[in-house]
Amino acid sequence: MNGSTISKNIYFIFFCMFLFFMLISVKTGAQPYYVNSVLWQVHQKSDGLKDGLVLLTIDDSPRKGSTVGFLDLLDEYGIKALFFVNGYMSVYQPHLIEEILERGHQVGNHSWDHKKLNKLDREEVLKEIMMLNSWLDYRFNYKPDFFRPPYGISTPFIDSLLHELGMSNMGWSVNSYDWMYPDDEVEEGDHKKIAWRTINGMIDGGIILIHDRPVSLKALEIILKEVQQNGYKFIDPKYLLN
Ligand SMILES: [Zn+2]
Repeated sequence: MNGSTISKNIYFIFFCMFLFFMLISVKTGAQPYYVNSVLWQVHQKSDGLKDGLVLLTIDDSPRKGSTVGFLDLLDEYGIKALFFVNGYMSVYQPHLIEEILERGHQVGNHSWDHKKLNKLDREEVLKEIMMLNSWLDYRFNYKPDFFRPPYGISTPFIDSLLHELGMSNMGWSVNSYDWMYPDDEVEEGDHKKIAWRTINGMIDGGIILIHDRPVSLKALEIILKEVQQNGYKFIDPKYLLN
C-alpha cells in the first residue's frame, strides 16, 4: 500500500465517521441551541433560526403532590423540560430530583430558600446559590448550567458570580401567570385560564414559565396538546448552550 492509498483510506474513514455522526444527530434531533438573554428566546445554533421552537421551564420544584404528575405527562408527550429546583424542597425529597434526572430532564438552580436575593447581602446570596450547587454535586454528581433567580430578580453581583461559576441566568418570555391562582383548583376553570393565557402568549423561540403545582399540571395538559398541534417543537434543554 503506497502513501496515497493510505491517505485515501484515512479520508474515507473520516468521511464515514462524519456521516455516522450526522445520521445520529438527525435521528435524535440533537443539535445545540442558544438563549437570547435579552428577549429570552431559544435559537438553533446552526442558523440562528427560532421558528417553531419552544423551551419548557418548571419552577419551584420538586413538589410532593405534582412533580411525578409533571414527569408522567412529559413522558406521554415525549417532551424534556428544565426543572428549576429549590434546596429547601429538594433536601427533603431527593428521590424526586433523582427521578427528574433519571427520566432525562435537566435541573437548574432556583436558590436554596427562594428569597428575594436583592434584599440579601453578598454572603447570603453566595450561600443561596452555592449551597444548592454543592448539594446537587454531592448527591447526584450534577452541575446545573442555569440559574433562575426567585421572582426573576437578579443583580450585577449574581451575574458576575454566575459568570465565575460557568453558569447562565435564565429568564422567560411566555408567562403562564399560574402563580396568580391557588395551588389547587379552587374555582372551577382556573387551569383553563392559565392554559389559554400561556397558549395565547406563545412566540417563536419562547421560553415558557410554569410552576410545579397541581393546578399548573392540569393547565399543562392543555398547553402541550395545543402547542404541539400548532407545530411547535419543544427543544431538549440537554442541548442548550450556557
Ligand atoms: Zn420561584
